[in-house]
Amino acid sequence: MEKTIIILKPDAIRKGCVGLVLQRFEDAKFRIVGMKMMQLNEAVLREHYSHLTDKPFFCEIVDFMSSTPVVVVALEGVNAVEKVRKMVGPTDSTQAPKGTIRGDLGKDKNQNIVHASDSVESAEREMNRFFNAAELFVKG
Ligand code: ADP
Repeated sequence: MEKTIIILKPDAIRKGCVGLVLQRFEDAKFRIVGMKMMQLNEAVLREHYSHLTDKPFFCEIVDFMSSTPVVVVALEGVNAVEKVRKMVGPTDSTQAPKGTIRGDLGKDKNQNIVHASDSVESAEREMNRFFNAAELFVKG
């Protein structure tokens, strides 16, 4: 069993496909163990995307990710980190295969519907970044 974090980005909110994306994860046997709507600010985005703060497109990420509230979800399941990343697909939606969430619903490299933790270590960091212990409902 592993836990991972997904973020339904502003394009998912605008398109009204939050339910559709969550259904895919539930159909794949992942269990929601935490979920909340949040308005992300530049400070938390600098932390969350610290590997990208030097990139010329970083301000685009901040503008986009703070343009509406997002939905942050903690999922639990077998091999969750790797399986969820596979279901999400590669960063650039135009290159993402059909059948992946980004391939089916995303627009480009930035507006790609959903974030997913890229390792067990980042999942744990992100879990602590977005949730406190009382907001997570993991099985004992
Ligand atoms: P991923 O989300 O697939 O793990 P990265 O960690 O490389 O990918 O990038 C984080 C997010 O930053 C992407 O999901 C996307 O929203 C944005 N991003 C990445 N590369 C670009 C780019 N070249 N132009 C605009 N936005 C980008």
